[in-house]
Amino acid sequence: MSQAVPAIDPYALTRDGLAALMADLGEPAYRAEQLHAWLVRGIDDPAQMTNLPVALRERLAARFAHSRPELVAHTVADDGHTHKLLLRYPDGEAIETVLMLYPKRATVCISTQAGCAMGCPFCATGQAGFRRQLTAGEVIRQVVVADAALRSGGINGEEMPAGAPDHVTNVVFMGMGEPLANLPATVATVQWLHDPEGFNLSARGITVSTVGLVPGIRRLADLGLPLTLAVSLHASTDDLRDELVPVNRTHPLAEVEAVMREYRERTNRRVSIEWCLIGDVNDSDEQADRLAAIARRLRAHVNVIPMNPTPGVRWKEPSKRRTKAFVDRVSRAGAEITLRDTRGRDADAACGQLLASYTLGAGTRLPASVGAAERVDLLQLDPGMTS
Ligand code: SAH
Ligand code: SF4
Repeated sequence: MSQAVPAIDPYALTRDGLAALMADLGEPAYRAEQLHAWLVRGIDDPAQMTNLPVALRERLAARFAHSRPELVAHTVADDGHTHKLLLRYPDGEAIETVLMLYPKRATVCISTQAGCAMGCPFCATGQAGFRRQLTAGEVIRQVVVADAALRSGGINGEEMPAGAPDHVTNVVFMGMGEPLANLPATVATVQWLHDPEGFNLSARGITVSTVGLVPGIRRLADLGLPLTLAVSLHASTDDLRDELVPVNRTHPLAEVEAVMREYRERTNRRVSIEWCLIGDVNDSDEQADRLAAIARRLRAHVNVIPMNPTPGVRWKEPSKRRTKAFVDRVSRAGAEITLRDTRGRDADAACGQLLASYTLGAGTRLPASVGAAERVDLLQLDPGMTS
């Protein structure tokens, strides 16, 4: 193998891509299926792929080397029910993946971009700006790593709480970045996760959260899968939404509402509205009434998330009293609404706080929160932990 051959991230390859790789290596087609089966189980180290010939394992190892991210930190919160993984890629960019465990659910919250270009002023990721797109392989691997950890009963030596599922049941695109501003990776990930011979995850267990990029929502509907679409509305008037979600100036509320209706009609799936509730900003009765009207028109479910305080954000979280009044008012107006818990807040793993408290790269510095975390280990993502 000449040195000029670029490294391949096996998780970035579709089934066709794996077949092409094997053809390129002069191998029979069934080798691609064998390789795929290992990848689905979270194993990407060819040395462990015992049903492949040794010579092929060595050739694959030469191609796959250096595509694995490094697990820089692992923090645990909520009594072992929330695990935050900080992954760093060979180019120094870092992202976070959060695993949330419930009695019968294991949800992975994945990132699609390092940073985000959308600039929502209450969001820590938005404050940091856009760094780069993640590849499909980098997005898929976040789920695979979490799944393999559950199958093995622990992450990084930390055992999973009793009763936690032994595999990932739900995936939410709610980590860093705007999934519909990275459509190729988002679509490839959804297809990989849903593939019955792949991860075989029900489309109903997948939620894509977006600020409301209209062309991207249409593209998702084109997939013909009953994915859950969650639109981060946060404001029910254009004036306020222009401020909270700057992309509203390009896709104003009326257009977002229309495409949400279209999505529901084409997929037969109820859509969700996300509402980050910010004290004295979007918690008024007027906002509640207009939100209720939109939700009723769309027959959408509203999820309210009290704003997580974030460094550099001038706004504050809403008072308990205002939060209750807001939720009650929307509910009384006949819309379905749920107040979400603030999972992971004590490990900076809650929404909007990812990567807030630290910077990586030159002069690497770990987050302040890590020092206080129950468990931090620095190690290479070891395939041994995933088998
Ligand atoms: N970019 C996509 C998905 C990632 S953000 C989107 O915006 O929908 C996931 C969710 O976290 C969004 O609903 C976002 O509004 C919310 N969020 C961002 N910052 C937050 C904060 N400080 N407190 C609570 N929720 C926040
Ligand atoms: Fe980006 Fe979502 Fe944060 Fe807005 S809320 S800046 S779209 S990650």
